[in-house]
Amino acid sequence: GADRPKNVLVLMSDTGGGHRASAEAIRDAFSLEFGDEYRVFVKDLGKEHAGWPLNNMERTYKFLVKHVQLWKVAFHGTSPRWVHCLYLAALASFYAKEVEAGLMKYKPDIIISVHPLMQHIPLWVLKWQKLQKRVVFVTVITDLNTCHPTWFHDRVTRCYCPSEEVSKRAMVKGLEPSQIRVFGLPIRPSFCRAVLNKGDLREELEMDLQLPAVLLMGGGEGMGPVKETAIALEEALFDASLGKPIGQIVIICGRNHFLHSTLQSIEWQVPVKIKGFVTQMEKWMGACDCIITKAGPGTIAEALIRGLPIILNDFIPGQEVGNIPYVVDNGAGVFSDNPKETAGLVAQWFGPDREELKELSQNALKLAQPNAVFDIVRDIHELVQQQGPMARITYSLNSSFSYPI
Ligand code: UDP
Repeated sequence: GADRPKNVLVLMSDTGGGHRASAEAIRDAFSLEFGDEYRVFVKDLGKEHAGWPLNNMERTYKFLVKHVQLWKVAFHGTSPRWVHCLYLAALASFYAKEVEAGLMKYKPDIIISVHPLMQHIPLWVLKWQKLQKRVVFVTVITDLNTCHPTWFHDRVTRCYCPSEEVSKRAMVKGLEPSQIRVFGLPIRPSFCRAVLNKGDLREELEMDLQLPAVLLMGGGEGMGPVKETAIALEEALFDASLGKPIGQIVIICGRNHFLHSTLQSIEWQVPVKIKGFVTQMEKWMGACDCIITKAGPGTIAEALIRGLPIILNDFIPGQEVGNIPYVVDNGAGVFSDNPKETAGLVAQWFGPDREELKELSQNALKLAQPNAVFDIVRDIHELVQQQGPMARITYSLNSSFSYPI
């Protein structure tokens, strides 16, 4: 009927580029599919509304992934259920008030969590507020395979899994098949729906029009052996006997300013484009013929959509390990953490092994799920329809006063 717009609160934390990217993808898809029917707020709840350590999650995460051993301890150390339950219970009692204030500000009819630590506290708050039956709470998992157990909570309305592997884990953790949907990782609509021509893109991006191109990157933060691989690539992609290059390189450093300036100070004998953080990833991927990257889920899902064969050269221990068999076992790429070997492989692909490159590309396209984000928002829309006309939800603080909507 003539309902007011429904409020959608997307809870995320800016740990790595991936969670924010998924959150924004969902927001854009709601707007494209349903226009003004939904008002979507993407909030880094931890940062805005809670104290340490939630507001510190981003910095803590960056620190931990730089010190890999520590991250391993953090990831596996918090895995047993009783450990993270106690930990979260302690957190919740400290920060529930702030979380409550966050929920009150946006008065969500629908809450979407795209972060492994954003299930428990909001669900507890909803329970205290006696709103759990009236607010649709869904989780969108942004790890392709070996994800952290805190992602799974049995009181969610839906748990959107990017792959069958993740849905199996969800069932092991006690979620019902009716709660689980497997659509794929949500990727920005501007990426999925882009109609791109490689020749035009290369002209626009001022790349060489003929030479095959390899894209080298390391997630939003420019992680992994990017510099070593760039140097090895330059050597492998220069045919000394002919005195000319057999390929070109695009390097995207993300927010790694040090990497960016280091690479810019090098003189290259093959055509190289060196970029900092780019906003039009679909164009750079569309202009290239293969990609070398750490095993970030966002980058992998995007590369699959563009049909790029993938060389994975690094991973964050814990949640990204499983992304490697996901790519390799499905024939969309290989793993190599040796820069020389990686560069040699690219040279082969650009030379005698062109057919192999094509085959990997076909497999990548088969694995791609460009419509995942639309499938997710349509499913959420259906859930909302099933609820009937939206009740006017009132969030009350301390049960002492309430906010009319
Ligand atoms: N990205 C981007 N511009 C850059 C570097 C990265 O838009 O210069 C995006 C990339 O397209 C992907 C995300 O950042 O969507 C990185 O997510 P991923 O899961 O691969 O790794 P993370 O950085 O989260 O560890």
